[in-house]
Amino acid sequence: MKADVVVVGGGVIGCAVARHAARGGLHVVVVERATPGMEASHAAAGMLSPLAEAEAPGPFLDLLLRARAMYPAFAAALAEETGIDVGYGDAGTLYLALREEDEVELEHRFAWQSAAGLAVERLGADAVRTLEPAVSPATRWALRFPGDHQADNRALGRALWGAAARAGVDFRLGADAVALLREGDRAAGVLLAGGERMEAGAVVLAGGSWAGRMEGLPRPLPVEPVHGQILALESIPPLFRHVIDSPRCYLVPRSEGRVLAGATVEHLGFRKAVTPRGLLGLLAGAVEIAPSLADAAVVETWAGLRPGTPDGFPVLGPDPHVAGLHYATGHFRNGILLAPLTGEVVGEALLGRGVDGAVAEFGVGRFG
Ligand SMILES: Cc1cc2nc3c(=O)[nH]c(=O)nc-3n(C[C@H](O)[C@H](O)[C@H](O)COP(=O)(O)OP(=O)(O)OC[C@H]3O[C@@H](n4cnc5c(N)ncnc54)[C@H](O)[C@@H]3O)c2cc1C
Repeated sequence: MKADVVVVGGGVIGCAVARHAARGGLHVVVVERATPGMEASHAAAGMLSPLAEAEAPGPFLDLLLRARAMYPAFAAALAEETGIDVGYGDAGTLYLALREEDEVELEHRFAWQSAAGLAVERLGADAVRTLEPAVSPATRWALRFPGDHQADNRALGRALWGAAARAGVDFRLGADAVALLREGDRAAGVLLAGGERMEAGAVVLAGGSWAGRMEGLPRPLPVEPVHGQILALESIPPLFRHVIDSPRCYLVPRSEGRVLAGATVEHLGFRKAVTPRGLLGLLAGAVEIAPSLADAAVVETWAGLRPGTPDGFPVLGPDPHVAGLHYATGHFRNGILLAPLTGEVVGEALLGRGVDGAVAEFGVGRFG
């Protein structure tokens, strides 16, 4: 049977797009070589942090802010559709200056963000330690981003898979899409390893770090894996309410009595490994933020591959030359945050309701 849409990749991005398109009435098949939500989407820390992530005002910040604004309703809809709580937490983020050199970075961030009218506050050391008594006495001052929130990305992956399935999406698990099928200048489906042709009127490339590796793409897709390691420390009773960021490490409190310390940024190709070098850096960064973590139990370590692009921005929307071919990849450090927005804008394009203006800046055509 020919589907309307085949989505390659069942991470949070592929599932969000599939859910939206299926809810609009399309027959969608997700092709996933392993288990949905178990690659970068599983490895992430779940921060929804436009102000801690963007380096300047502009279209990328606008995209992140728009995605962030969608989150409360998105989380509520997923809970209603699946019964899964995606752990949306709105305590906000504190960004600490712990060393003299950190102050330059925080001053710069405060200057451009307050000039842009964004919700950023400057807190003295006493105010920081009143809010979060476990942070280091070395804390000089901090920025507070009250609107930078968090979600449990692992629960999100399960919820999006479930919501997509409930909307009627078919999942082909253990199926590896090896090539794009084309009929002239139209996408016509994908070829699976083993030779099966899966025909469809539209194809969405949502394979995360692997999205550029299929044969037959009309152009090079410069998505490269950017390795990130994280560790989880036991935190019972919870040490923090806020996400705590610093120029060297971030700590993300989780409701299950853990705090995540992340993350390395390394270029190791497709190798995924937890290394002594990575762990040493994360442990030092975590204990610098909260000295009492030096005695906490390490309960899990892992590594994942962020889908990075040359400019650090996602690749969204239709191919300019091949009809029916859509991109939803390259979300790098912000794919959890951008999942609802990507689902909506790519899903709407699949439904023939036009291409969102915000996507124009992030099309594949920018790579020439
Ligand atoms: C350490 C770390 C921390 C992060 N922290 C945050 C954070 O705090 N906040 C945030 O917003 N983002 C964060 N991210 C980024 C975020 O995790 C990613 O941007 C996001 O998960 C990308 O989702 P995806 O669905 O595109 O990719 P993935 O989750 O990697 O999913 C891609 C899927 O496609 C499948 N696939 C690929 N090619 C094929 C093929 N040819 N055939 C069949 N299946 C295929 C894969 O098996 C995989 O399941 C972090 C990432 C890492 C690694």
